[in-house]
Amino acid sequence: MNVLFKRSPALLAAGLLACTAMACGDATDTSPDESSTPAQADQALEAVAAPAPLSIGERGNLDELSRLIADADVRALNEALPALYATRGPVQLVTQGPIIDYADAREPVYIRHPNSPDLHLMIAAGAEIQLKLRDTSGRLHEIAHVLEEVEGGLAELRILATDLPAAGTLLLGTADTDLEALGDDVFALAVLDEPMSCEGAERECASGDLACMIQAHSSCITSSFDALPALHEDASPAELITSYIADRSVFGALRVDSFDENRGTVTLQLSNRVRPERAVMILEDGSQKPLEFEQTGDFTVRVNAPEEGFGPDTLIALQAPGGGIEDTGVVIAPIFGWSFPDKTWQVSGCLKFQNQAELSATTTEEILHDIDVRVATSVDGFFFRPWAATRTNANGCFNAKKKFTGMFAGAKRRIRIQYRLKDGDFAAWNTFSADGILRQGYSVIKKTHKLAHAPSGHTMGWMLIAPGQPDALGDADHRRRAVAFDAMRRIDQVSGAQNDWLRFHGPVFFNYPVPFNKVGIVPPNPANVLAPINPFPIAHRVFLSEDSWTFETAVHEIAHAWHYKHKSGNIPNVVTSLIDGWNTHNCQEDTNVAFLEGFAEYFAHEALCGAIFDSGACSESEQHYYESPLSLHGLYQDYDNTCASESQPPLNSPYRVIRHDDGVTHGLKLLTANNFYRRNFTSSGQTANVHSSINLPAECYWGTTDYDFWDLLWAFKADPDKGFGDHFSIAPGNDLVDFMQRFAAIHDTHAHFLNQRLPFLNPLHGSNPSQSCFKRCTQPAVMADGQLQSATPANNHCEVIGAPSWVDVSVSERNWFTETSPICPVGTWDTENCHVLTPHPDVSPFIWQGHLYTTALPGGVCPDGWFDEENCQIAQPVPGHQPFIWDGKLYFTAQYSCPIGEKINDDLCLIGTTPPGTTAAVTGNNMLSYFE
Ligand SMILES: [Zn+2]
Repeated sequence: MNVLFKRSPALLAAGLLACTAMACGDATDTSPDESSTPAQADQALEAVAAPAPLSIGERGNLDELSRLIADADVRALNEALPALYATRGPVQLVTQGPIIDYADAREPVYIRHPNSPDLHLMIAAGAEIQLKLRDTSGRLHEIAHVLEEVEGGLAELRILATDLPAAGTLLLGTADTDLEALGDDVFALAVLDEPMSCEGAERECASGDLACMIQAHSSCITSSFDALPALHEDASPAELITSYIADRSVFGALRVDSFDENRGTVTLQLSNRVRPERAVMILEDGSQKPLEFEQTGDFTVRVNAPEEGFGPDTLIALQAPGGGIEDTGVVIAPIFGWSFPDKTWQVSGCLKFQNQAELSATTTEEILHDIDVRVATSVDGFFFRPWAATRTNANGCFNAKKKFTGMFAGAKRRIRIQYRLKDGDFAAWNTFSADGILRQGYSVIKKTHKLAHAPSGHTMGWMLIAPGQPDALGDADHRRRAVAFDAMRRIDQVSGAQNDWLRFHGPVFFNYPVPFNKVGIVPPNPANVLAPINPFPIAHRVFLSEDSWTFETAVHEIAHAWHYKHKSGNIPNVVTSLIDGWNTHNCQEDTNVAFLEGFAEYFAHEALCGAIFDSGACSESEQHYYESPLSLHGLYQDYDNTCASESQPPLNSPYRVIRHDDGVTHGLKLLTANNFYRRNFTSSGQTANVHSSINLPAECYWGTTDYDFWDLLWAFKADPDKGFGDHFSIAPGNDLVDFMQRFAAIHDTHAHFLNQRLPFLNPLHGSNPSQSCFKRCTQPAVMADGQLQSATPANNHCEVIGAPSWVDVSVSERNWFTETSPICPVGTWDTENCHVLTPHPDVSPFIWQGHLYTTALPGGVCPDGWFDEENCQIAQPVPGHQPFIWDGKLYFTAQYSCPIGEKINDDLCLIGTTPPGTTAAVTGNNMLSYFE
């Protein structure tokens, strides 16, 4: 039985996410389910609607539904719901609102409750709709709502929870439809008032046994919902049962008006004028003791405390005639009679998780450093109060303290350790869970029995999230979330070590497990699920369901988030793509959708196989699949036989290859595969592996430059100098070949680079790279004056032109350089300037109108220069050289010139630049050359 009570802060509100629009599902990336094609639509629809489509007229009777709703007859409603939700009308997707885990059902029943989430539905943009609520008496109500167009040809319809006026059936249909006919064009949603209570929980108790009744209701409240204690972590112990009873009691709310410690009396204030016939003290252990009492006014009762005073968690109950729970009033006894020393409680511990073999070649234990930790304690074992949050340090350890005062300070406590996978841009938990909704993403990972206060504190030691560990520590969901969270931080860190631009630079929120089947999606636009309950900022969200979990799939989804953070443009066609088969891994997709998926898969393969993770997935038989492009045969068949399973022809042309995710993954690997020229694309196996003994004829060009994963990621970046003003766009029309050309341009690849690779997008291309000869040294160098200078093949390089023997040539990447030489038309080069004269000690140097002078000796004698009737002139101005005096000496600045080439600064002359994809060299006899 489930229970709700009115003053609970939040309850069983859960968002529903359906795996449909705004997404790219890929649950079946590498492990196709043979039955997936015909069943896929239904499986995906299951998230929104029940599976079996029914014809009109089978969808139930609205009056009958109304009765079930009015009665909150959940069992019968559950049976009626499949028919009700067999069609969706204009609704494409329910993104938030209906309840999950409601009475073990996942049908979209919406619970009307003060803390229910708002209802969000996606409908086709531009659709004219009508929206009404038919209450249980059959009246139709207009429903206030907001309709806002969003990306992807959809509009979001938002209904505030507070705008649903009554329980009933929410009906949404096209503008001219008869909503109450429940036709195929009508979406219907049952809106229930919170239907459950603990009515009758006390029926096992003897009449008048107050302790039994209160305990029965307490345990009903707390056991009905596992999540419930979390709701009340901020509540005082026992406060909830008192407010629960206050809502039902003939006394109304009871409160302590005053107490007299000396006399040992407590005056209670009643809300209603009811005369109690009994007063009882109820202790935490369930024992009870009658109390003497006296009615002192219409609304006041004075109770005598026992001699020892009231203990912890003691309740005072009043009972009116009748003996039921509703005849009872309860209040927490005030504490008096003792003084209690403050107690500081201290809890420490460390967290780590066991990774999965796909993350590193061996299964190791990884520290959960820099994550949130919260300790919560409870005196009564039901209601846990959280302490201030803390963080694990670099060693995965935390130490939390809290000072308690008052009577309970030294009482024994149960301790719970909660952790939250949140650090900087990354977070991982399950939005659609009690932890996600009620604990701000914290999960309880360890619980203790009651522990006495210990001055030195309590240590939990190492808490290892791993199979076989007790309780939550052994839960696979916790481990997988830790693995995915850790993966995001590693990808970010390793990317950043390559180049800061490659980092995520924004939040990513990994939701696992999404409570549906075959979901693996990352919407292109960031959003905040269940704001403001969800404490993580607006983030790109990954949604993955339990049945879709593999480490590779997790990385694939994270790769989508990476892509969206390094993209330009939008992808309006992903929705239609999804609706056509409910995933984006069909045999033939739009080219931009195929690119999206092929890239994510490429990213996962590369990341697993060395670029980021030293994964066990790449160590053995899988190695070739992850690390190699496909063979032509493997490409033709497509690796996972998607086309065959859709009764489509195989991939028999480049046109079809770039519309297939595996085709795109293959194409991207062509760019970054090492030993490209040695690979065997004509193999009868699936992949083009490196051939160990292949003959590469010496007259042909075999590039020596290998590009890697990071080079490929870099090609997404805008490069205005190369003509790419924006990051690579995900918009329709952008395909694999566009990306390959962009890659070549951004990396200045050799002229033959793409020509050698593009043929391998054609599954019917019948030969290997080693069988096509592209002549060496066909590309000219560009000399500094702009002239092209052709090259001729030499032994292992290309010779362009000889430099004079006295020129000292240096090289850097694709450039030949030489140093500039200083020129001193007057004076001599002193390694910095042109030194003209160190004057005779008895004369003084000066500069006049650009001329260098010294004064003359008496009698007009000039030790240097010539006497001009007044002074000694040393030098006339030299254009382009500045005269100056330093340390009593006369100078001109020097000028610099290039022996060959063009001056690029005071020191360097550029001689020329070799073709793209080559490196400059100087070979024998000062020959300007390049290596290809
Ligand atoms: Zn995907």
